[in-house]
Amino acid sequence: MTTAMQSLSATSSYSVGFGFPPNFTTPQTRLHRRPVVVIAKADEPSDKSVEIMRKFSEQYARKSDTFFCVDKGVTSVVIKGLADHRDTLGAPLCPCRQVHYDDKAAEASQGFWNCPCVPMRERKECHCMLFLTPDNDFAGDEQAISLEEIKELTANM
Ligand code: SF4
Repeated sequence: MTTAMQSLSATSSYSVGFGFPPNFTTPQTRLHRRPVVVIAKADEPSDKSVEIMRKFSEQYARKSDTFFCVDKGVTSVVIKGLADHRDTLGAPLCPCRQVHYDDKAAEASQGFWNCPCVPMRERKECHCMLFLTPDNDFAGDEQAISLEEIKELTANM
């Protein structure tokens, strides 16, 4: 992680944002200073899409030898953002590039940023921190997350 603050916002119906403390720079501090997840939403994604994206995320983490964030609230928010796009666009357009989309429907049909996006498939680069390589300071040791965890970790957002 090269920046202290990474902003991931915003969709028309589901906004995702992450933040890190300004001096968050070393692995030694990560257990004490966790990513802060901020979310604002107008509509909840359907349970069906959340479950589909949850299963996809587990399977793809295993397939790509990557791990979920040590703070699974991050994982939960991204999965719900993907599920929201699946509901509204018919494809799991990346939820952490919202400010870069001029036309989300066109982006979804083009496919470059549909999850797993091309940077992830080619270089294991996940800007949303959904899939983290083991050497990433924020990587946990899990490749599984339950629907209950997702609901619990996003209940007050
Ligand atoms: S793999 Fe790509 S599309 Fe999927 S969450 Fe990560 S950055 Fe977004």
